[in-house]
Amino acid sequence: MKIAIYPGTFDPVTNGHIDIINRAALIFDKVIIAVATNPQKKPLFSVAERMDMLAHVISNTPNIEIDRIDGLVVDYAMAKKAHAVIRGLRAVSDFEFELQMALVNRKLCEELITVFLMPHEKYSYLNSGIVKELATFGGNINCFVPEYVLNKIKEKLHDH
Ligand code: ADP
Repeated sequence: MKIAIYPGTFDPVTNGHIDIINRAALIFDKVIIAVATNPQKKPLFSVAERMDMLAHVISNTPNIEIDRIDGLVVDYAMAKKAHAVIRGLRAVSDFEFELQMALVNRKLCEELITVFLMPHEKYSYLNSGIVKELATFGGNINCFVPEYVLNKIKEKLHDH
């Protein structure tokens, strides 16, 4: 069974993430979405909230799981007997950082393969940060996140 992990902050999950998840689920027997704690990024949503949003919006596919990750990606991948790490590549600007991560992870664990997937071009300029920024200033984010996430963002901004 070929297992891939898709680590990320997912603060919150966007349609771009979902695009990558669906593509990965077509080529791997199991895809584990690993929600990183990432306190240094000061996430808007808690890990539990980010996992809840993912659970609501990913398609009902039995080969997708959601988990959290607190340590190194390579350690988590080995514990899960994963063969690959999935990352999304949107534009050239992602490349340098992602190449560095992939090479460091390969140095730490030779057998773990990083697989880059490109989303549909309509999501190539999208990230969680821009969605939150637009929402803060009342911009329309309907086409960037599923309705469930949209409502959670509105609730969160209302509480702040
Ligand atoms: P991280 O803190 O790990 O970068 P993110 O949630 O921002 O967490 O991103 C997780 C992964 O999803 C990364 O590989 C990122 O490139 C990818 N990703 C984020 N947004 C998109 C998008 N719109 N289209 C495709 N991939 C994306």
